[in-house]
Amino acid sequence: MKRAIISDIHGNLEALRAVLEDIDQQKVDAIYCLGDVVGYGPNPCECVKLVRDRCSLVLLGNHDQGALFDPDGFNVGAEKAIRWTRSQLEQHDRMPRNSADQLSDFLGELPRVHAEGDLLFVHGSARRPLDEYVFPEDIYNPLKMEHIFELFAKYCFQGHTHIPGIFTTAPDFISPAVPKTGPKQEQRLQLPAGKAMVNCGSVGQPRDGDSRACYLILEDDSVRFRRIEYPYDITCRKIHSIADLDNFLGDRLTQGR
Ligand code: ZN
Repeated sequence: MKRAIISDIHGNLEALRAVLEDIDQQKVDAIYCLGDVVGYGPNPCECVKLVRDRCSLVLLGNHDQGALFDPDGFNVGAEKAIRWTRSQLEQHDRMPRNSADQLSDFLGELPRVHAEGDLLFVHGSARRPLDEYVFPEDIYNPLKMEHIFELFAKYCFQGHTHIPGIFTTAPDFISPAVPKTGPKQEQRLQLPAGKAMVNCGSVGQPRDGDSRACYLILEDDSVRFRRIEYPYDITCRKIHSIADLDNFLGDRLTQGR
């Protein structure tokens, strides 16, 4: 089975469209989304609808949960964005013509974990699926890594940090080096024989210094990290025009930070 794995779209419709177009050319059997469809970005409703229509699995992320319930543990800018996102969802759901198309209901019913054979899919980590970060520097915290590695059989796919790569049990972190130009803006990495945590990166708000949208293709025992150019200037302008979204949320897209 060939799967595309996407995560952390964060209401960035331009990035999501570009990634879905690329996925269409990859002839995958299924698209899995690891959560945070909304939060930060200017098009939460459009992104929820697209993900709902195109993905066979969608997990709940901490920003999706924040938009549905009381946002907790977010910084000021993120919380303001979440409250604005909630108002957009509510506005959509209140319209009579959308009575059979409730986006909050869809988000509210999303699972936090998905297991399939020896594969596990979460937003954050196998230990705290909704909101635990596993950062590259956590390889210097072997206790944390050991605890989390104990909780799944083989491979755990996750998002949340917006930093793509593979954690091995060494522990080590392998960061994909994707060419900036040329026809093949991807890197194929073999999954280790032992266990691994694989972060698929972020579609709508990359934070690894690369402005291109990121996602991965999982096929057999290898993954391909793909980077996709998209018109971030459009998304950035939309964010600048919405008072409740900090300008920084747009500016950071231009640098992927
Ligand atoms: Zn996120």
